Amino acid sequence: MNNFKWKKILLKISGESLMGDDSFGINTDVVKSFAYEISEVVKSGLQICIVVGGGNIYRGISNANNGMDRTTGDYMGMLATVMNSLAIQNSLEQIGIQTRVQSALPISAVCEPYIRRRAKRHMEKGRVVIFAAGTGNPYFTTDTAAALRASEMNCEALIKATLVDGVYSSDPKKNKDAIKYDHLSYLDVLSKDLKVMDASAVSLARENKIPIVVCSIAKNKNLTHVLNGKGSYTIISD
Ligand code: UDP
Repeated sequence: MNNFKWKKILLKISGESLMGDDSFGINTDVVKSFAYEISEVVKSGLQICIVVGGGNIYRGISNANNGMDRTTGDYMGMLATVMNSLAIQNSLEQIGIQTRVQSALPISAVCEPYIRRRAKRHMEKGRVVIFAAGTGNPYFTTDTAAALRASEMNCEALIKATLVDGVYSSDPKKNKDAIKYDHLSYLDVLSKDLKVMDASAVSLARENKIPIVVCSIAKNKNLTHVLNGKGSYTIISD
């Protein structure tokens, strides 16, 4: 029996988490397992939209350091998010979940352009809307796109799926004494420079009073547990 804390959520999936144990690209088993976790939530009647990153394929800023023009690199990064969005769409549709991909950069042969009202309508009809190409602007990240779309869609929470089950005082993979926080304020994250999400994303979520829930969806049913207020996660709110 589900007792969801929020009825309409935005799920941010980083590009890196789609790599699994690979060093690059899209691991189809990982995408399938994420799709299964998402389908469990959709079948329970929750409205869900997704923003996916592109770091598993291309990151503008890293390549700017190697001499690539930053703006061009960022557009390439945004195109990488389109590929990831199509992979997630494909896996969700293979298990019977209706989806729409909407891109902030119009690519009309591949997906819909981003149209806020249309996206809202899709969500009301139970379709999972996957927002591709970030904000459509260089010099931004998909974290900021997630906070922006969560605000535009009037989502009640932004779920940030990471490789670990919450926010720690230091990297738990490197330091076994790292402490996990159950709750943090937006200002804690900004002032302690906790690197959960970039500052503009945290500020936007704060302004619009959208809690950020940091958790892992790699574990079986963890997303459903977290949305029921159980399982392991960190919540960032006022
Ligand atoms: N990007 C951008 N504008 C946006 C979103 C993303 O220019 O609004 C580019 C940027 O180059 C970024 C890349 O797309 O490095 C991939 O996105 P991000 O690094 O946020 O992906 P993640 O870390 O979540 O995998």
